[in-house]
Amino acid sequence: MSGDFEMIRLDTGNRLRIDTDGTEIRDQVEAPTVEFCDKCQLQKNIIHGEYVTWHGQNILWFCETCK
Ligand SMILES: [Zn+2]
Repeated sequence: MSGDFEMIRLDTGNRLRIDTDGTEIRDQVEAPTVEFCDKCQLQKNIIHGEYVTWHGQNILWFCETCK
């Protein structure tokens, strides 16, 4: 683990990472198109799903049918 915070905008692929010393690193990644649903345990299209966040971190993801 290099950074303690990471955020990716799914529509643009823009990534923001904030290191433990406060350094902001911005780059671009290929936005993921599928995610693993924590409820039905299947890979589903990320666009229709929903993240459950806690303290700014994505901890769970539910697909279109499970959210
Ligand atoms: Zn699901």
